[in-house]
Formats: sequence, C-alpha cells, structure tokens
Amino acid sequence: MIIYRARVYDTPVDPFDGGEIRGDADAGIAVDGGAIVARDAFAAVRDRWPEADVVDLRDGVLIPGMIDTHVHFPQIRAIGHLGRPLLEWLDHCALPEEVRLGDPEYAAEIAAEFVRGLVSSGTTSALVFGSHFASAVDALFEEGERVGMRITSGLVTSDRILPEPLLTTPDRSRAEAAALIERWHGTGRARYAITPRFAFSASAELLASDASLRELADDLWFTSHVNENAAEIAGVAEMFPDARDYLDCYDRAGLLGRRSILAHNVAPTDAELARLGELGAGVAHCPTSNSALASGFFPLRRHLEHGVRVALGSDVGAGNGFSLFKEGAQAYFMQQLAPTGGLPLAAAHLLHLATSAGADALGLSDRVGVLSEGMRFDAVWVRPADGEPLDVGLRHAQSDDDAVAKLFALGTPADVARVWIDGELVTSRR
Ligand SMILES: [Zn+2]
Repeated sequence: MIIYRARVYDTPVDPFDGGEIRGDADAGIAVDGGAIVARDAFAAVRDRWPEADVVDLRDGVLIPGMIDTHVHFPQIRAIGHLGRPLLEWLDHCALPEEVRLGDPEYAAEIAAEFVRGLVSSGTTSALVFGSHFASAVDALFEEGERVGMRITSGLVTSDRILPEPLLTTPDRSRAEAAALIERWHGTGRARYAITPRFAFSASAELLASDASLRELADDLWFTSHVNENAAEIAGVAEMFPDARDYLDCYDRAGLLGRRSILAHNVAPTDAELARLGELGAGVAHCPTSNSALASGFFPLRRHLEHGVRVALGSDVGAGNGFSLFKEGAQAYFMQQLAPTGGLPLAAAHLLHLATSAGADALGLSDRVGVLSEGMRFDAVWVRPADGEPLDVGLRHAQSDDDAVAKLFALGTPADVARVWIDGELVTSRR
C-alpha cells in the first residue's frame, strides 16, 4: 500500500455537461496492487492506513494519465516539416519514412523512440496508428508491453495510390492482421484496431476484407481518417461514387460501431455527424496537425450537438509533438479563432479532453481517465523546475481553474516529472 499525497485535479463529470474540475489541495490517494483503493483528504486516508508508505508530491500537481486518441507510430522522425497541405505532406514527409519501417531493426528503434515520446509527455493510453508492415506492428506492441502502456493499434492497410512498398492485398492483409489479433488482442493491456489508412488509399474490396476481421473477435477497435482536407475529400468522392459521403465508405463496408474512432473530421456533413452520434463512435480532434497542414477549423460545437464523442489526438508527425497540454491549448486557440461557430473552452474542458474524454472514447472509463476510488492508478506528476514560469504560476494560482489553465498554457514534457501506469512508475525525472 502506498499513499500519494498531492494536489490533484481531474474531471469526473463531463464539463460539456456541466461538470467542473475536481480539485483537492491536499489529497491522499491510496494505491494497492495498481488500484486506487481510497481517495480522500490526506489526513483521513492516513488515519485508515497509518503504516502505509507516503509519497509526498505536494511540490507539484497530480492529474490522470493522458490519453492520445490519434498518433502515428512510424512518424516520430517526421515531426516538424512545415508548409505543405495533407496530400503533399504525406508524399514528401510521412510516407518515405513509413517505407523504412519495412526493416524490422529500424522499426524496433522507432518503436522505442515512439513509446518513450508518449510516456515522457504524460500519455499513458493511446490509440496508435500502426505501420503498413506486420513486423513493425509487432515491434510496437512488444515495446508497449515492455513499458506497460495501454496501446490499441493495428496493421495499417492500403491497396492503391501510396508508394508500392506500402501496398497490400485484401487476402494478404487479412492473414497478417489475423495473426496480429491472435498474438496481441487482449494480451496484457494491448488491444487490436482495424486500421485502413483512409478511404483515399483503399479499395472497397480492401475495406470489406478489413471489416471481415470482426468475425475473429467481437470487441476489435476500428480507426481511420475522415474529412481532413478538401482535396482528399474530393478524391474520395470520386473513388466511391456510390457512397453517400466520406463516412459512408467505412459504414457500408461494415467497419463502424461504438468501438470506432475517426481522426480529424474537420469538414463533416450533418448527416455524417448524426451517423457518428447514432453509432456512439468517437472523433479524434488533432488541433496542431489541423493548424500545421492548414486543414481547417474543427467544428467542435457541431460534434457535441450531435452527441459525438470527441477526444484529443496529437497526430504525430503532422502534429508537432506528443504533448497533450499543447494540443489542449491549440484546441482552445482554434475555437477562439474559428470564423464561425467556435466553442469557447475553459480549463475544465481541456483537462477533460486530454484525460476522461479519451478514456470514454476508447472504452477505458471503467479503468482510467480520473483518479477515483476503484480506478487503476495511471497518473502524471507535473513538477516544473523551481522558478520556471509554470512553477511560479502553479504556486500563485487563484483557483483550480486557474491552475489547470496554467498547466495547458505552460506545461511541456520537461515538466512531466513522474508517470505511473497501473501503479508502476514508468518515468521518473525527480
Ligand atoms: Zn493521422
């Protein structure tokens, strides 16, 4: 039994539904075997277990482990290219790097860099866009298992338009995916996600073959891209003339359901939003990527009005880093700047989007996303260096909202001092 004594912030009630930040200035969180067995005022928890070890974290703040719902494993070395729209960026920046993952040794190196990038930024669960190469997807799951991360991922499939080494066939991809599902789905914290890259690079036959994987397990996840960029959307409409809209390319193949997360959805129709809401599916909002590629303003308000689950994605490597503090701040900026329909966001929304909203979208709300009794202890201790602006800000915050706003305004991976997953310390800088 360990009692963590800390200033804690989380969002047990959805702030888009009237919830507020739950802030405890001096909380005790008792953890046993990875589970939170009590959360109360420190003195009360201490009285219950006077012999327990106490870890004093009052120098910083404790928040739930963050949850990234869209991030590309093969693209860590592609971060930072500027000045190109989506399809050009893919051709020049991302896809040449993705081809290199055909080399298993290279893929293992990238997997280590990638998982480290996530964890050291305070991300403890992620829906990861995998690789086109099955051996590289193995490398990712192996590294995730070694570190203990909650990773949902899968083989990325495409059978047209992309460079030849990234192409597959319906039969080959089905066989490779089936073997990966057998090895990884439900193994430790790993789960499998069916992952066609996007309808733009997939034939209807490939999408149907991907959907047929559902016969192997009824709780597989699905992820892909949708409605990111005008040229992409027009291309998909040409390639799927019978589809009602972009989303329908996946829907008619039988790919969509509650366990689905589509990335971007910057330019959806109302019919698409209504369908996503009806399915209970989620959308990964990736604001630095949308900004870097000039993809557009995410219509957050319309998503919420249609009951669509929304969480944050870093979309590395189009997004420019792993930090969900930065994504939260950028989401806020873009809603402020949106020419029409922007939704003003408060600190509680940002914390929710980076934590509990991701848990909800990924079906992990019974385990992670908040620091309540009964949950697993996935947590991030933010402890900036003495005298840094975030340190000054946290010490002089006027309220819980003010403190959390400062986390998103000023927090960086360098301020993430410790990270726990399932009670295990996986990163420690202090
Ligand atoms: Zn993406």
